[in-house]
Amino acid sequence: MLSYRHSYHAGNHADVLKHCVLSLCLESLKEKDKPFLYLDTHSGAGRYLLQSEHSAKTGEYLSGIAKVWEQPQIPEILSSYLSVLKYYNRSETLKYYPGSPLIAKQLLRPQDKLQLTEIHSSDYPLLRQEFSKDDRAQVSRADGFLQLKSKLPPESRRGLILIDPSYEIKDDYQKIPDELKEGYKRFATGTYLIWYPVVNRRQTQGMIDGIINTGIKRILQIELAIRPDNNQKGMTASGMIVVNPPWKLKQQMQEILPWLKNILDPQDMGHILVKELVSE
Ligand code: SAM
Repeated sequence: MLSYRHSYHAGNHADVLKHCVLSLCLESLKEKDKPFLYLDTHSGAGRYLLQSEHSAKTGEYLSGIAKVWEQPQIPEILSSYLSVLKYYNRSETLKYYPGSPLIAKQLLRPQDKLQLTEIHSSDYPLLRQEFSKDDRAQVSRADGFLQLKSKLPPESRRGLILIDPSYEIKDDYQKIPDELKEGYKRFATGTYLIWYPVVNRRQTQGMIDGIINTGIKRILQIELAIRPDNNQKGMTASGMIVVNPPWKLKQQMQEILPWLKNILDPQDMGHILVKELVSE
């Protein structure tokens, strides 16, 4: 029985980084009229009420999206992400945080498709409800990793795949390189985004080494730490591994990460990283 609920963590610093990268990649795919598939293997509930009991218990969004929201000036690079936040928050108050499926729902065009998977018995119905009137979307209660075999390649031969597990099952760290390889074997031209937490650096690095050892080319790593690595409980950093990154992404992240770090790590204890792990 899985106990992880994203509602405790929605809008934290890791979501800000993840969804900033996601929005930029979606915008890049939209530069061509041809349709594409957005495949989200671990979708969550979609929408998160920031005044909920779960959010209040951790208060994580207060040092995440709330800090960005209160900035008087937000850089142009974040305009697409911000447009989605504004769509779900019509007043000045930040009430809802849109998760990855709702970001895609808002940014995708009529010709694009969404394939969303969530396994949790409480979050799946919430997600399905969000998309009940959206013909572009297929929402399944299934193992997200299996979608990398059954839904790829997409009919349109263009696609963005977000792999965003909770890492509640420690096996996920070992599984991801193999699962990614399965997807890539079927669809080598897709853009793959793999989110990772840093709780135990060795465990995270083991997974990243596993991804490098798949032999897949064109891999970018993006990381934002708000604290130095340590042996205590809790996430000190998070990052995204991007396979086949859009050509602008590296430069966009080099530009925006210092701004984000300033806001999300005001005591300047962490670090940022944009690194080509494997080139052409
Ligand atoms: N992608 C979401 C976002 O950015 O808003 C957050 C997803 S959350 C980090 C991970 C989700 O994966 C949880 O809702 C959890 O219930 C779900 N999950 C865990 N194992 C899964 C599996 N094997 N297949 C599909 N979903 C799974």
